[in-house]
Amino acid sequence: MALATHTNATMEVCVTASVPVEARPIRLALVGIAHETNTFSDVPARYESFEADGILRGDEVLAIHATAQTTVAGFLEVGSEPGVTVVPLLFTSTGPCAQITSDAFGRIVGEIIDLLRKHGPWDGVLLAQHGAAVAEGFPDADGEVASRVRAVVGPDVPVGMALDMHGNITHKMIDATTVTTIYRTNPHIDARVRARECANLILRTIRGEIRPVQHLETPPMVINIIKQYTGEEPMASVVADVDTVEGWPGMLSASVAEGYPYADVEEMGMAFLAISDGDSELAARGSKWMAARAWEGREAFVGDVYSPEEAIAHAASVPGPVVIMDVGDNIGGGGPADSTFLLEIALKQGVKNYLQTLYDPEAVAACIEVGPGAQVTLSVGGKTDHRHGKPVRVTGTVRAITDGVFEDWRPTHGGQRFFDGGATGVLELAGGVTLVLTSNRIGNTSIEQMYSCGVRPELKQIIVAKGVVSPRPAYQPIASEVILANTAGVTSADLNSFVFVHRRKKLFPFEREASYRA
Ligand SMILES: [Zn+2]
Repeated sequence: MALATHTNATMEVCVTASVPVEARPIRLALVGIAHETNTFSDVPARYESFEADGILRGDEVLAIHATAQTTVAGFLEVGSEPGVTVVPLLFTSTGPCAQITSDAFGRIVGEIIDLLRKHGPWDGVLLAQHGAAVAEGFPDADGEVASRVRAVVGPDVPVGMALDMHGNITHKMIDATTVTTIYRTNPHIDARVRARECANLILRTIRGEIRPVQHLETPPMVINIIKQYTGEEPMASVVADVDTVEGWPGMLSASVAEGYPYADVEEMGMAFLAISDGDSELAARGSKWMAARAWEGREAFVGDVYSPEEAIAHAASVPGPVVIMDVGDNIGGGGPADSTFLLEIALKQGVKNYLQTLYDPEAVAACIEVGPGAQVTLSVGGKTDHRHGKPVRVTGTVRAITDGVFEDWRPTHGGQRFFDGGATGVLELAGGVTLVLTSNRIGNTSIEQMYSCGVRPELKQIIVAKGVVSPRPAYQPIASEVILANTAGVTSADLNSFVFVHRRKKLFPFEREASYRA
């Protein structure tokens, strides 16, 4: 192993002669570019998009992640073990949107590779990726990053990659890594745990205790976003299968990726990964067993949800607060954050005590101009594109203006702790209809988003959350009911509303006759 390559010859002798294996100094590089690419979105991920959300280098990585519950936090945590140093070189991510421009991909990945080269050699590399990144020219961007990292460190240095459960996993990713781990919860509240597991396996590999062998199985099936919550069937059973396989003697790790359906790429769909200790037959058996069982139950992964009109009517008729997931404007999936379909219906149906956010920097500026306490008439939302409704004309009172910065120490989707919605205005309409207008495209994954600007969602009858699963940790504790509304948009639950060119064929449920044998 490349363990001793950064020590001198004298030390090597000393190390092998008398120092116990665990005490050998181990130096791990931490890098990553995480992006969930919605190829149906119109908003590209430019270098500036990553810069705005933070291209973190060195100590900047620590400041944002060390106290969070993210993948990066789990990787950093392993640095607290005696003799282990984790060197955070560069980590960046930006909100889900269209593909990463070739400029951004070239510059960021280029810098990652340069840093690895400049500060190496390494005993191991920890790679914090998402798994559903698409870059211009690289439909499998995560596989490309992993391959470039592998090429720079060589075949003998263990490379561990931790991925989001929405990754569309490829053989290229698995071939380039020593171990890959994937979140096992959706909403994602185990990012740190899974990354720590990945780092532990890398440490044990470096120490010569294990020899990981990975096997990936990709049955031709897609699971609709509305069936991806791991707290309910059918996903609860799939996750139980993963736990079962991980418990098999000789197995080191097992994972399922739900896949990310809004990416028109060959590998889009579910994937099952098993990692054994030196036994390729066992790894294959584990991943095939999980895949075959999911395939058998595939009909359960197709589902139906309320129409937007039904959702609002239902939510108004039962004890609140009812949380309506705005599926078509799932910000965590690439939605523009300014869909107005539900607001328009709510105003038309005359509902009271209604709360939602809208990305609308222009409207925020108008609120700032008149100031708190003033009345204003303006058009809100629906400005990104025509697929998410039209701007809605409203009159209301500006209740608050904030900088949109807040912090949440509760479990949140992905483990994020620090948030920035940009300048934010709270607009109060007649009937207790509250609009929280933001200047950044920010999801509804933290209830602090509301508390930080003086809004009490507990007192509302209807709360719209732009997401499908990710807002659950924030809102399930206060909700009488969580329901899904099938709004139109770039993250619609109706997958037939998208034109796919590159996806596999035949793929269930697009082609119901698709077949699979493990
Ligand atoms: Zn995800």
